[in-house]
Amino acid sequence: MKNGDNFDIVIVGGGLAGGLAAAALARAGFRCAVVDAADPAKMRKAAFDGRTTAVSYASARVFRRLGLWDAVADEAEPIRDILVTDGRAKNRFDKGTVSSFALHFDSAELEDNTPLGWIVENRFLRESILDAIEQDENISVFAPAKRSSAVFNDGAAEITLADGRTLKGALVIAADGRFSSLRGEAAIKTNEWRYRQTGIVITVAHERPHEGVAQEFFLPSGPFAILPMTENRSSLVWTEREDAAPAYLALDDEAFRTEIENRFGPYLGAVSLAGPRWSYPLAFTLAQSYIAPRLALIGDAAHAIHPIAGQGYNLGVKDIAALVDVLVEARGVGLDIGAMTVLQNYQRWRRFDSATLALGTDLLNRLFSNDFPPLRFARDLGMGAVGKIAPLRKMFMRHAGADLGSLPSLMAREG
Ligand SMILES: Cc1cc2nc3c(=O)[nH]c(=O)nc-3n(C[C@H](O)[C@H](O)[C@H](O)COP(=O)(O)OP(=O)(O)OC[C@H]3O[C@@H](n4cnc5c(N)ncnc54)[C@H](O)[C@@H]3O)c2cc1C
Repeated sequence: MKNGDNFDIVIVGGGLAGGLAAAALARAGFRCAVVDAADPAKMRKAAFDGRTTAVSYASARVFRRLGLWDAVADEAEPIRDILVTDGRAKNRFDKGTVSSFALHFDSAELEDNTPLGWIVENRFLRESILDAIEQDENISVFAPAKRSSAVFNDGAAEITLADGRTLKGALVIAADGRFSSLRGEAAIKTNEWRYRQTGIVITVAHERPHEGVAQEFFLPSGPFAILPMTENRSSLVWTEREDAAPAYLALDDEAFRTEIENRFGPYLGAVSLAGPRWSYPLAFTLAQSYIAPRLALIGDAAHAIHPIAGQGYNLGVKDIAALVDVLVEARGVGLDIGAMTVLQNYQRWRRFDSATLALGTDLLNRLFSNDFPPLRFARDLGMGAVGKIAPLRKMFMRHAGADLGSLPSLMAREG
């Protein structure tokens, strides 16, 4: 242990959100403890998490400013275009046949021609974060170590680990994921529902280049996203009805590959499986409060949303950047960083913003995951309108880049 058992901040959960929070807060001069039940050596393995993340350009700024981007830059594939189609595979290569109910977002339309984001394998994000926090003098990592209890007093909070060790801090950050036990113990209620959908995730290799195009087809069972990766590979996020998913997951490789190819259409040429299949039950969870005395929720502990827009982690990155600003400001004027008056500034900044996006993605999924003719008509009208109005298209692109609203310092635009 680098700093004894007294810290400014104890972060429970060392996943993509908790780990990044530690890196950002330590850089701002806070002494942090990070507790995670999982073994870091296992977290670094490809078999730990088969997903990719669409990192928005605002989130990428945070990684850059913390010095973490260099480690992932070679593994990050820029998203140049996003094509959204109501129905199956239409694409930019089918000249003249693209449905009028397709939307095309082109990064060239943005003033600075920045990519719309980057697709990065979670294992590389995780590795860069773990490397940073393990080397930081201001951070002590306790892992594998399960948090077993928490006490929040007037003067400090105390976290007890399953092996009996105790860690004290002025503030505890709950970054313990969608099923956050800290959130439950703090009696913070949630709004939550299951989608009755499963996210099937797999990496595929293909004959033709994707040219940086991210495709999303809205099929009746749910969105089917093909996300460009390095080296002529793509990551699929195939949302399927939860009752149908097990049968697809049980198919042999060739039958599974054929199902994928049928959904892709011919635009990427022959497709082969380039990794194992993963599946995630999809659900919505929104905490009714992001704070309690000496406790702040970030990442999936605060909001777990449908992956339809690839924004879940990006919301968490914005939580972290906002919390850093709030805590630095409080410390600057000598306030207690665990006081409710301080934490309320964080809640005001983040809760409305993330609830709006969370509910927006929920609506999008409901609107598109069905074949009900009046709904189909309404959504196609909407897509037609957005497709024809350039300022609207640009606004959607700024949303995809998480570059709207009041941006914390770590996310602010250069210049
Ligand atoms: C199919 C799919 C695709 C997605 N794609 C995208 C995308 O393209 N873009 C995007 O922005 N987001 C995406 N997301 C969302 C993103 O993956 C999540 O928002 C993100 O991984 C959440 O990270 P987290 O650190 O908050 O939570 P978790 O990853 O759940 O981490 C929680 C950590 O807390 C630890 N923990 C829990 N309880 C305890 C305890 N008692 N003691 C100690 N440790 C504990 C766990 O071990 C774990 O490491 C996707 C999600 C899914 C399901």
